[in-house]
Amino acid sequence: GLVLGIETSCDETGVGIVRVDADGTTTLLANEISSSVEEHARFGGVVPEVASRAHLQAMVPAVHRAMTTAGITARDVDAVAVTAGPGLSGALLVGVAAAKAYAAAWDVPLYGVNHLAAHVAVDTLQNGPLPPALALLVSGGHSSLLSVPDLAGPVTPLGATIDDAAGEAFDKVARLLGLPFPGGPHIDRVARDGDPSAVAFPRGLTGPRDAPFDFSFSGLKTAVARHVEALERAGTPVPVADVAASFQEAVVDVLTAKAVRAAREHGMDVLCLGGGVAANSRLRALAQDRCDAAGLVLRVPRPVLCTDNGAMVAALGAHLLARDAAPSPLALPADSSLPVTEVLVG
Ligand code: ATP
Ligand code: MG
Ligand code: FE
Repeated sequence: GLVLGIETSCDETGVGIVRVDADGTTTLLANEISSSVEEHARFGGVVPEVASRAHLQAMVPAVHRAMTTAGITARDVDAVAVTAGPGLSGALLVGVAAAKAYAAAWDVPLYGVNHLAAHVAVDTLQNGPLPPALALLVSGGHSSLLSVPDLAGPVTPLGATIDDAAGEAFDKVARLLGLPFPGGPHIDRVARDGDPSAVAFPRGLTGPRDAPFDFSFSGLKTAVARHVEALERAGTPVPVADVAASFQEAVVDVLTAKAVRAAREHGMDVLCLGGGVAANSRLRALAQDRCDAAGLVLRVPRPVLCTDNGAMVAALGAHLLARDAAPSPLALPADSSLPVTEVLVG
């Protein structure tokens, strides 16, 4: 079967097309992404109204480009999957409305799926069927540890950030260091020339009495701000590479330590990374080292599949189609705060 996946939860209009064979093998045929990130750059963050308008303009052309790339026509599509939440309400609405229209016009099942579950499902396109796994999802809006016995659900949240998301911390610290938005990739790049042990920044929520699987990054962000302010007051040039590397090390140290511990405590042999921050080169390297040491298998999609895209939605849709899951109603609502426990909106 062929599944067309639509993603509009934030600032990327994504359309993916995935083929799923009878044995469950999936193949990625197209992954069209149109981003409005540059329109948000001067605001230092995503502006919801701007994102919604950009989705409206990009949606139909992106579907056409994806079908051309995949070499298929509308008649070939067997199901339409769409991110139903969580995300920005107005942005989600554009994708959900488009998906309903296509599913109705083509007379195929509609799957309204959870964005976070889709971030995990995308791994199957690269690494094959996913065994029971512990997932670490880190993006601009989320930082969660999830127990995923099966992609079709139920997914159990084990922990999450109590303040800023990991990607949000990257973006805010990048701004402090005078790097462009979104800052994650820039910090990743400049940190390569820096010393990760130059500044001993705090590791949030790692005390013995702290919640073992929750995260906190706002204290770290404040510590970086204080450090930079002190240097500026003293008239000392800010060693951007060293500060970026030290900040990045503090984030990935906590993320990987907690993820490995969660996998062991929950009897999972596989750790799967997802979300935009999973594109971070230091996170990938340290996760690999710590999984090797703990005897865990690390699965991490290539960077373009980590950030928001339509292929991840199509991948989860393909899994649901192969399982003959009951489709969502055509009255499917967009739900900006869809809980992660709800993989498929019934
Ligand atoms: P959501 O949280 O709803 O998934 P999002 O748009 O934040 O939405 P993504 O596209 O998955 O989700 O992630 C974007 C985030 O990932 C941004 O904060 C960005 O700075 C961060 N990011 C991207 N690449 C890197 C990198 N190499 N290193 C660190 N952070 C990165
Ligand atoms: Mg984004
Ligand atoms: Fe995302």
